[in-house]
Amino acid sequence: MTEPVIDIHDIEVIIPLICVECKQYHEIKVKYSDLLKLYKGVKVQNCFPYLSADDREMFQSGFCKKCWDWLFSNKDITKKENHHAAKKN
Ligand SMILES: [Zn+2]
Repeated sequence: MTEPVIDIHDIEVIIPLICVECKQYHEIKVKYSDLLKLYKGVKVQNCFPYLSADDREMFQSGFCKKCWDWLFSNKDITKKENHHAAKKN
């Protein structure tokens, strides 16, 4: 009887991410081997080509898509209070 061979590099890792702005919880699933590439300095888009652009963005910036879009559509607004005031509509 042979031992089952498990290659740790093929294991999928779930990375829990909480948006720094809205505190919403997100999970990103990546391969362990790809995570190692990231630690070696490979760019996120080259490590995880299978992730959506939104997931990659959140991984890099810590902002979810909603907040990221908001940031880019409100470049001129520097005060954070304006963001929350606008939400009350
Ligand atoms: Zn968010």
